[in-house]
Amino acid sequence: MTGTAARIRKVVVLGGGTAGWMAAAYLGKALQGTVDVTVLAAPARPRACTGEATVPHLHRAFFDFLGINEDEWMRECDASFRTATRFVNWRTEGASEAAARALPAGGPDHFYQPFGLLADYDRIPLSQYWVKRNHDGGAREPFDYACFREPPLMDALKSPRRLDGRAATRYAWHLDAGLVADFLRRFAVGKLAVTHVEDEMTGVDRDGRGHVSALRTASGRVLEADLFVDCSGSRGLLLDRALGEPFLDMSDQLPCDSVVATTVPHDDAAHGVEPYTSALAMSAGWTWKTPLSGRFGTGYVYSSRFTTPQEATAELCDLWGLDPSTTRFEHSRHRVGRTERAWVRNVVGIGRSAGYLEPLESTGIHFVTAALHLLVKHFPDRTFNPALVDVFNREVAVMFDDARDLTQTHYHCTPRDDTPFWRATGELPLTSGVRERIAAYRAGLPVGSPHTDESTYYGDFEAEIRNLGSNGSYYCLLTGLGLLPDAPLPALAHRPESVAGAEPLFQAIKRQQQNLLETLPSAYDCLRRLHGA
Ligand code: AMP
Repeated sequence: MTGTAARIRKVVVLGGGTAGWMAAAYLGKALQGTVDVTVLAAPARPRACTGEATVPHLHRAFFDFLGINEDEWMRECDASFRTATRFVNWRTEGASEAAARALPAGGPDHFYQPFGLLADYDRIPLSQYWVKRNHDGGAREPFDYACFREPPLMDALKSPRRLDGRAATRYAWHLDAGLVADFLRRFAVGKLAVTHVEDEMTGVDRDGRGHVSALRTASGRVLEADLFVDCSGSRGLLLDRALGEPFLDMSDQLPCDSVVATTVPHDDAAHGVEPYTSALAMSAGWTWKTPLSGRFGTGYVYSSRFTTPQEATAELCDLWGLDPSTTRFEHSRHRVGRTERAWVRNVVGIGRSAGYLEPLESTGIHFVTAALHLLVKHFPDRTFNPALVDVFNREVAVMFDDARDLTQTHYHCTPRDDTPFWRATGELPLTSGVRERIAAYRAGLPVGSPHTDESTYYGDFEAEIRNLGSNGSYYCLLTGLGLLPDAPLPALAHRPESVAGAEPLFQAIKRQQQNLLETLPSAYDCLRRLHGA
């Protein structure tokens, strides 16, 4: 049995959360009507929106692929702009607060990790020239402000898009994940002929090969398929429970395992809308702030070793001035890590069923989009050629582990040690990836994935996937935490022409910052026009 004779005829997606409906819509579209797609989902309990942050390829690789324009899905999902992450108070000691404290050497305790791409000159990233300048006693401007256009635009609450919709810089979005699931359900069922079965899965049938052959439901349905996509969330009903795929626990590498989250009303007209996600350091973890329309989502990601749900809730209330008796909180506890393989036999785990990482690098929806892209690229027939499965599993594992390394780097490199939590972050056993990157960084080398240049900006999705842990992200993070290389890249001592040639790039960034500050609308005006007053 080969070729079309063996082709996949039916896919069942288990789970109707954001991952489940993203999977159904994406597969429905990508497989061009050749496969019957069914979503089996138990009625979900309503959840508060706590704000989800995404990365730039979401539009190009997902919504645009589905043929949905940006304004339409932004309206449907109550989306706002996200041009950067702003890290606040990761260096200085003190009680949790939203405003940046002063650094001992002057300047505020905050840094940005923008989605803009780092320029290079003579095939060497601008970061290396910045280190040399800094080392030689040149300009002392922080790395993010010297090497990216975006930081002053963030301070001025500017939109990354012009009022006519043209992008002025590279950006992503904050959105209401519940609205995404709801919108995609209507789209998948209405436009892509996806079948929605609202029922609870109660049993799994296996065939002689150990493959899943059907899912049984509470009301007596038997849903047969050739391929099953497990989007049942952290329960991992197929991958973990039915197939018993081992889970690689990474809780020793990352300290936070719990979240308390809520939504806070916000007066956008009076205060403007921040076009970035904030990550505010707390006493036993950090808090996200993701602006949406007239409100922001927020969640304290903490370590249950160092604080209790009650104490964490009180700290989050103090941060935003919330009344605990009238605010609704979502509490969750997470198993940090991933299944050894995301694709086992004829079951592919997408989203939390395949792994969980705290949202410090906003990987939730990113992992779903990337895994769907990889699944379609390696889409099997009923012979399930192991070569397809193995490549998929390798790529998903590398993506997860790279994001884990970038996340661990935040904790390892922070100089804070004023609470038991921050002292413990200094003791985390480092992954080999983190150890190697920090050694390379100290030696003056570029670190992270290879530099992504303008030609791959909107073209190569796989370069985009790797851009998350790019040299630019690592440099923003490490310089932002106050860790500098021991010396500039030694090779630069032999490239005086390159060093001189890179200098105008720094001046060009200053001019672009000024020009954009003068011409871009505020994020508030742009969003008000988009969503309607
Ligand atoms: P989330 O918790 O957002 O990751 O989504 C998990 C999804 O899996 C939800 O839509 C649940 O309804 C769905 N789910 C979990 N358990 C079952 C089950 N036994 N049968 C059907 N759907 C389920």
